[in-house]
Amino acid sequence: MPHQPHPQLDPRKPLVLETRDLPRRPGALHAVSRQVPAPEDLGLELIGVPVGAELDLQLRMESVSEGVLVSGTVTGPLVGECGRCLRPISATLDVPIQEFYAYEHSTTDETTDEDEVGRLQGDLIDLEPALRDAVVLSLAANPVCREDCPGLCPDCGVPLDELPAGHNHEQVDPRWAALTQIKHSEE
Ligand SMILES: [Zn+2]
Ligand SMILES: [Zn+2]
Repeated sequence: MPHQPHPQLDPRKPLVLETRDLPRRPGALHAVSRQVPAPEDLGLELIGVPVGAELDLQLRMESVSEGVLVSGTVTGPLVGECGRCLRPISATLDVPIQEFYAYEHSTTDETTDEDEVGRLQGDLIDLEPALRDAVVLSLAANPVCREDCPGLCPDCGVPLDELPAGHNHEQVDPRWAALTQIKHSEE
């Protein structure tokens, strides 16, 4: 596949890693410890990392024969809404991340698709797509405030665990309701 032009990565962006000081010799290692503001839309509909919240990246960049392997963990705050009772949830994100980035013009670069294997762009790595994948894959599409959350009363919409046991809405039998009406009209 021909090389597609990339918009130039900005090395000052918080999720761009600079590998200039990492020797291109297999086994060379660099630790990266960085606190960055969370990008927009980092999460799913019901739960995610608030934009601008602090993400803590503890990574290592390792030279391998055809590129750089980035691995480590990402932690940060999660906020969301319980899929059953709609009450707010707060939790902690703590996900492993591991992604390989091939050197430009390496055999890997020439023989794989960019959707399969990431690429260095010059000396730079754009970590954001891999970070986004790792975070989103770790989240539940339908988060709950606790495993046994009973959800909402279907009649009044109040969380069932805030209501007394046996809470229900006495349904008047429609036949009795009809009789009551007749009685009223006779009066
Ligand atoms: Zn709940
Ligand atoms: Zn109710």
